[in-house]
Amino acid sequence: MDSEQLREYGHQMVDFIADYYKSIESFSVLSQVKPGYLRELLPDAAPKHPESLQDVLNDVQQKIIPGVTHWQSPDYFAYYPSNSSTAGFLGEMLSAGFNIVGFSWVTSPAATELEVIVLDWLAKILKLPNEFLSSGQGGGVIQGTASEAILVVLLAARDKVLRKIGRNSLEKLVVYASDQTHSALQKACQIAGIYPENFRVLKADSSTNYALIPYQLHEAIINDLSSGFIPFFLCATVGTTSSAAVDPLSDLGKIAKANDIWFHVDAAYAGSACICPEYRHHIDGIEEATSFGMNAHKWLLTNFDCSLLWVKDRSALIQSLSTNPEFLKNKASQENTVVDFKDWQIPLGRRFRSLKLWMVLRLYGVENLQSYIRNHIKLAEQFMQLITSDPRFEVVAPRTFSLVCFRLVPPEGDQDNGYKLNYNLLDAVNTSGKIFISHTVLSGKFILRFAVGAPLTEESHVKAAWKVLQDQATILLRE
Ligand code: PLP
Repeated sequence: MDSEQLREYGHQMVDFIADYYKSIESFSVLSQVKPGYLRELLPDAAPKHPESLQDVLNDVQQKIIPGVTHWQSPDYFAYYPSNSSTAGFLGEMLSAGFNIVGFSWVTSPAATELEVIVLDWLAKILKLPNEFLSSGQGGGVIQGTASEAILVVLLAARDKVLRKIGRNSLEKLVVYASDQTHSALQKACQIAGIYPENFRVLKADSSTNYALIPYQLHEAIINDLSSGFIPFFLCATVGTTSSAAVDPLSDLGKIAKANDIWFHVDAAYAGSACICPEYRHHIDGIEEATSFGMNAHKWLLTNFDCSLLWVKDRSALIQSLSTNPEFLKNKASQENTVVDFKDWQIPLGRRFRSLKLWMVLRLYGVENLQSYIRNHIKLAEQFMQLITSDPRFEVVAPRTFSLVCFRLVPPEGDQDNGYKLNYNLLDAVNTSGKIFISHTVLSGKFILRFAVGAPLTEESHVKAAWKVLQDQATILLRE
């Protein structure tokens, strides 16, 4: 590493990225390239001799950027957001600069200690119960993704119950969730060896705005117990992926507690909104949870990846995931006075991710982060008003945070209830390159999702997006 070269190239790269952000609106939001496009543009083999940074950047501009979907574009409204920010970016830079691998405390004490502190800070901002703080039996940890968070708590819950009832009872263990729960739970069950037929997917429909019904959970548990099964894990969601529905944590949590079930709350997207006092009630009942997860990288201005997980009983995670090979032994770990985050996650190696969250919290402050969330929710409300002002469209699920679910109303007698019509509208707006939205299916209907949450999005972008949707709808309905 040549410091002076790093300085020169680093400045060049920052300029390149700043220019990218300056011109981001000029690109097609959704990349329009065809599969395999890059093979035709790049050589078959790596260069034998060094090339100049300028040559590489020219290729990025001409060959890579056309294949980039611009998640940071203000015209990006698909899936859920994946925020970047100056503070998040600087934190990433610093983390890349140190490039430590902080699996044990000793490998970089600051990495572990900052993570513990920042997760405690955020737990306090979210007003999580004290049991989630590091001062007691619990604590927080940064995982790469919400999927990893779900997997590690499922493993901890599985092993905790199997320690009690014996390893050969795996086939009796039952997991509960709603049909709106993210597929990450299904994947976690596959990895954890949960029998597929023991994954109870409870129906959540429009009658409860797609939230899990506690009574259904209760019934399912009673049935399972009477058939000799062992209920052990419940995953509720605050802000489901399809429609941002909120499961009733309090009631579900009480049922889980009464049956000694590990209760995980997945608030990957909507957890960020709960830093605002007026949205905090969406996680009322979190006292009943065993673990809680949210992605700071979705909607809290922290560059990907930064998924936050809190548990009340860290020993359950550690008992499931710790290993102690000779080559990693060290005095601090042996004396049991430190946190070794390698025992709270799947991989050994881990990045210094707390830096970026720390920088986001310090450079913006909680009040600005709250205003940021409020502004997106206000923009989503405005978008919803636009939808309701045009009788050709309908809103199809309540808007709770910054996601609006809507569709074009199908003409009477439409054979597939508007499926093709809305599919075509989605395709038309996304191939226009002007905006990017995504879809889902709710109650058998093909639904369009408009998620406000990109950091650069302003009212003008929402209005422009609405115009794109209206214009394409006019063309389609004419056809
Ligand atoms: N849970 C919910 C509610 C989500 O919306 C998502 C992704 O959008 C996930 C989990 C998966 O997130 P990740 O990509 O961090 O695993």
